[in-house]
This record gives sequence, structure tokens and C-alpha cells, in this order.
Amino acid sequence: MFADVIVDIAHSDTDKIFEYSFEDSRIVAGSRVLVPFGKKTLEGIVVGVKEFPVLEKEKIKPVIALLEETPAFSEETLALSKYVADTCYVSRALSFRLFLPSEMRKGKVREQFVSYASLKDDENLDEILSSLNKTAYRQKDVILYLCDNGKTSLSVLNEKFGVSAVKSLREKGYLSVTEEKRLRSPYKDLGDTDKTVALTGAQINAVNSVRNTDKDVTLIFGVTGSGKTEIYLRLISDAIKENKTAIMLVPEIALTPQMLRQLRSRFGEKAAILHSGLSAGERYDEWWRLRTGEAKIAIGARSAIFAPLENLGVVIIDEEHDGSYISESAPRYDTIDIALYRAKYNHAKVILGSATPSVGSYLKAMNGEYNLVELPERINKKPLPDIEIVDMRREIRRGNNSPFSSALVSEIKECLAKKNQAIIFLNQRGYSKTVICTECGHVQKCSNCDVSLTYHKEDDSLLCHYCGAKYKMITACTECGSRFIKYGGVGTERVVAELNKIFPEARILRMDRDTTQTKEGHFKILSSFAAREGDILVGTQMVAKGHDFPYVTLVGILDADMSLHFSDYRSSERTFSLITQVSGRSGRADMPGKVVLQTYSPDNVVLHQAIRYDYKGFYEREISIRKATAFPPFTDIVRVLIQSSDDELAIEATKAIYGELQRIYQNYKQNFKFFGCMKAPLKKLQGKFRYQVLMRIDVNRSDIIDDVFYTVNKYNKGNVTVYLEVNSNNLN
Ligand code: ADP
Ligand code: ZN
Ligand code: ZN
Repeated sequence: MFADVIVDIAHSDTDKIFEYSFEDSRIVAGSRVLVPFGKKTLEGIVVGVKEFPVLEKEKIKPVIALLEETPAFSEETLALSKYVADTCYVSRALSFRLFLPSEMRKGKVREQFVSYASLKDDENLDEILSSLNKTAYRQKDVILYLCDNGKTSLSVLNEKFGVSAVKSLREKGYLSVTEEKRLRSPYKDLGDTDKTVALTGAQINAVNSVRNTDKDVTLIFGVTGSGKTEIYLRLISDAIKENKTAIMLVPEIALTPQMLRQLRSRFGEKAAILHSGLSAGERYDEWWRLRTGEAKIAIGARSAIFAPLENLGVVIIDEEHDGSYISESAPRYDTIDIALYRAKYNHAKVILGSATPSVGSYLKAMNGEYNLVELPERINKKPLPDIEIVDMRREIRRGNNSPFSSALVSEIKECLAKKNQAIIFLNQRGYSKTVICTECGHVQKCSNCDVSLTYHKEDDSLLCHYCGAKYKMITACTECGSRFIKYGGVGTERVVAELNKIFPEARILRMDRDTTQTKEGHFKILSSFAAREGDILVGTQMVAKGHDFPYVTLVGILDADMSLHFSDYRSSERTFSLITQVSGRSGRADMPGKVVLQTYSPDNVVLHQAIRYDYKGFYEREISIRKATAFPPFTDIVRVLIQSSDDELAIEATKAIYGELQRIYQNYKQNFKFFGCMKAPLKKLQGKFRYQVLMRIDVNRSDIIDDVFYTVNKYNKGNVTVYLEVNSNNLN
């Protein structure tokens, strides 16, 4: 037989199918194999098998080995990988990588086996014992131990009785040794939720609406604390009862443990978790549990949409509006698109849940394309927390230069006095956002990127948050030599330091990228806060979403303007949803919640809509602006990004590309709402100069976008990289 194989090389010019011969009947479409490739041996994926090759048989080399008996890809995931390659403009080899735990490639991680020993014949114990040398006490101990305890792992026996005793017994043939697969499973001590609740009327309606709709997608628009999770669990249960499988996505790795806990309490070992924070071995084992059907529910952040499940019944995307669902590096996929593909293939349902749906999703619900379910009230009609706007300009005028308004300080004081908990949110890690010379005004910048450096006090360094470069903290201005250096903009480290000064007794936890690098790092901080080992949790957007802490009665939003003044067309949407999300952490149980929102633009319309929880008002205004200005969801934003470490080359390529794209622009002028060429907002990143051709094109014109891609892709060579982004989450 012959196999069509795509070899694991990411270059686009090797996105070709190669033929190999094989005899092993276990090789099927979807198998991973080792094949000879030039002088090398490489891994590849079989995309098809056939009796008659295209090449002459004599020229075809044989497959070297089958890597795993169970094919890594199913018919569906193989087809989906093709869809990703086509729609995200990447090679098949690159698209395959989305589907496999990265360490599985190149055999960096394998199954783990444990050897167990047991007595071959425990009936004739006396005989065995008397046959042993009188002084062989240790061997006798092993025999007696196994007699009492039964099957025991060899490593335990070796440890207890010494290697030589165990070895002699094995040589004498008294022990039988078996190998068993050992599963490395993450989050062993999650505990149970054991809360089975009776659904409220609103929840029952939501579940029934999903069961009865003939639409593929249901948007569950439910305020924070309206009990969406319980609805998800019922829908997953429906799928499991029908012997189908489910994918449950949350926007942050930080949220996966609590979801896993709920799923494990309800579905036991049927739930498996997939995310990049797991150890290589854990991820490998969880992945195979899903692939072999032993586990039926995959939970994770974005990338778990590629879980190796067959026969999907439901895909749930919680906080569907969240930017993290759009991948920012190749393959640049949108998770909802992938979910739709998988749902179509399996006749499964897609559930999008949010307290602040993206305007695009809400528009689809309004148009009748999605089934819409609304949950306008919290469980038990608990009120949403009051949000108080604090004008930080006035605080400054009053001489308060601290990051906290006096209103927030007194709220924290009251919260601590009542032994409740507070969450303080700001979207900036580090100590200060920038360091500035007070003499000449120079701001320290990254030498690879056109961005200012953030001061991290913990290791006294300046860090570039774009490329990761780390510099020593300066003692004098690098421009003028002045020693007067000022910190600009507050980060989480600084907030903790200042809070410690004001509330020396308070126990403060910090959660941001820097404190969650260790294994299960998010989980440790969150469990500690849940166990009330902390009074205040300070953090970036990781603390904003999804968490359900009953004792949190206060939320402080330090800089609500952070996203408001970005030039991005989505800044209002982001601000609205962020405020709603963070506020939603407050007052979820019996005690009423409070939110203090600090801002330098207290009159901003969006802020006022947010504090009234007026999503519909926000939506109406926003959608009419988008329509009038021809922005998504009414157009697709297509950006061709041209980068090179050589500025001249980048400019040259940009000019040529712009020139060629003019032809397409002229052809389809009526479908273009914008067409322009300029420096990228981030002019330099990781040592590369950046230019862009920006387009806004009518929706559903993938033919034009394809044309753009094939026109510009040939410039992607040598020292110039060119790539295409469609509705990217980040237009830096
Ligand atoms: P959301 O995801 O909509 O923000 P959650 O699913 O976290 O809300 O639910 C909010 C709280 O209400 C949780 O503590 C949850 O345990 C509780 N809850 C959910 N459904 C019910 C119910 N039917 N009866 C009682 N409590 C419930
Ligand atoms: Zn200076
Ligand atoms: Zn940098």
C-alpha cells in the first residue's frame, strides 16, 4: 500500500504531499509515521492511503515506522486541519501542530510505564520461604510484604528492601513483573464542589431553548452571576447521555482549574484538561485520554478547541467576547470559526456565553442567525453591585498622588473591618509602566522595539513587555546622565507596595504573569484567596474574569481608562466588557457588592453605560457607530504586515506590495471601504521595522482576501516577512 504523507516541516514550500510505501496494516489516514526525507528521518502525518501511487513504484521509499497505533488524527481533525490551512493561510504542517501536544512531536515525551511485582505463587508460601537461604532476611521480607500487600511497584520494593534482594527473587522466578501505564494527571487536589443545585426557572428555560432550537449556535446573554456555568454543565450532561463528547472553553488558563473542579465533581474522570501550563507529561496523557475516548470532555483555553475528540455533541465558549479567543500568532484562527466548523461536521451545538457579548455576536442574534437566550438577573435576584465613578483629576487637585482615591481607601478599610475580601484590578504588571528622566524627559526604551520599558522592582530590572528583553535598571539617565529618575504609571507590584503601607495588617496576594509562571501557579494563588488566606487580591485581567469568590464584596478598578483611549475601534467595547466583568466579581453571595471605578474621564458615555449595566444601550450606540464608519462586523479588517530588520528592504517591499494591491483595489473598489499604506503603529518590534497595508473590505468576500494573500505572499522571502491578518485582535 501507499501513503500520502505531509512531512513535519513548517516551510510553505514543503507543504507538499509525498508518497511512501508501507506494509503495516495499522497505518491509516491520520497516523503519525517516521519517514526518510532526503538524508533525514522526519515525522509526518498520513493524509491518505491508496493502492496505486502517482510516482513509479521503484522510486517510492518505505515508511520507517508507525509512531502510535491509534492514529493521532481522526477523519474530522484531518479535515479541520485542511480548513485551518486554507482559511488561515498557513501550511498543513503548521496547522497540524495546533492539534498535537507540542512535546509529542520529535518524541520528546512518551507514555510512562510503571513496573509492578507480585508473587507468582502465593499458595506455597512456606515452600518458598524455606527454599531461601537462611540469612536472606531481606528476600523473606519481600515475600511476606507481597503476600500481605499484593501487587507493588518495583520502585517501592527496591526502596524498602534493597535492589539486590528484589533482583535475586526475580532471578529465582518467584516474582511476576507486569508493566502498567501510569497516567500523569494534573490538579490532583482540586477537591469537590458536591453542590448539585436545582435549576432556577431561567436556567431551565435556557437549557430547553438550546435543546429545542434548530439553530447551530445559541448565544446565552446572561449577567455576571446569572448561573451560566450550571447551564453549561447540564448541556454537557445532555451530550454525555447521548454518548457524545463536549468541549468547554474559558478565556484564561487561570479559570480552567475551577471549571475542571466542577466538571470532575459531576463527570469524574471523563473530564480532561488541556492547556500550556501543564507539564509535558500531563498534557500528553490528558490528550491521549481524550483521543482514545477514555475522557469525553475537554476543558481549556483557546487551544482546547482542537481537542482530539470524536462525535462532539456540544462546544461551549464561555465569555465569548474575550479577545483571547483570537490567536495572535500563526495560524491566526478565530476560535468561534473553528467551533462552527466542528459543530457542522458533528451536528453539534455551539454555545456562546457572555454578560457582554461581542457586538458582532449580538448582531447575529438580532438578525436571527443565532438563537438568543437572556438571563437578565443574578441567581436569587441578587442585585448587581453598585459602581461608583471616582474622578481622579479631582483627587490630584486635592493633592492625592497615590494610586488610590480616598473613596477607595475608605471602602477597603470597611471591607477589611468586616473580614470580607477585595479585588483590586489594573491592567499593568511590574512596578511602574515607564521610567522617565525628570531633567530631559527621556523615557527608557527597548533597543529592539519602539516601546517604553517597564520597571520590575522584584529583580530590579527593566523589561520589555513586547519582546521579553531584560535590561539592568538604570541609575542615571542614558541620555543626559541625570540621576533624577521618575516612575511613570503604576503597575501591580507598586499597588501591592502602596497597599502594604496603608494596610500593614492586610494579607495581600498578587496575580499577574510574573507570579503565575510556576506549575499550577494560577491555581495556587486562587485557591489561597478562596481559602481566605488573603484579604486583597491585586491583579491584571487574570483576576477580572469568571471567578466566583463568595466573600468578595469590593472591587477596585484603578485605571478604567486604560483601554478607552486606544486608537483601536474596539476600545469602547473592551472597556465596557472589562468593567462589567471585573465588577461582576463583587457581591456574588449573600453580602451586597460594591465597585469603585477610578477614571480621568468621568463623563465618558461608555463608562456611564457600564455602571448602569446598560448593555443594550451600549450595543445600540456602538453598532450604529460601526455601521456609519464601516468597521467590523460590517467589514473585515485586512492587514498586510511587512517586517524586516533592514528598514530599506522593508520600505521597498511595502512599496511593491502596495503597488500590486492597487490592482485588486481598482478591481473591487466598491467592496473596499478603506485602502491605505503606512507605518505600523508599533514601528519597530523585536528588531524589525514594521509597515502595513490596511484595508477594510465588505464581509463575505474571502475571494478578495485570498487574492490579496496570493498577491503579497511571494514577497515573504529572505530578510522580509510578510503576513496577512484578518480581523486581528491586535492592530499594533
Ligand atoms: P455566571 O457564570 O453567570 O457568572 P455562575 O455560574 O458562576 O454565574 O453562578 C453564580 C453563582 O450562583 C455560583 O456561586 C453558583 O454556584 C450559584 N448558582 C448557580 N445556579 C444556581 C441555582 N440554580 N441555585 C442556587 N445557586 C446557583
Ligand atoms: Zn535625561
Ligand atoms: Zn522589546
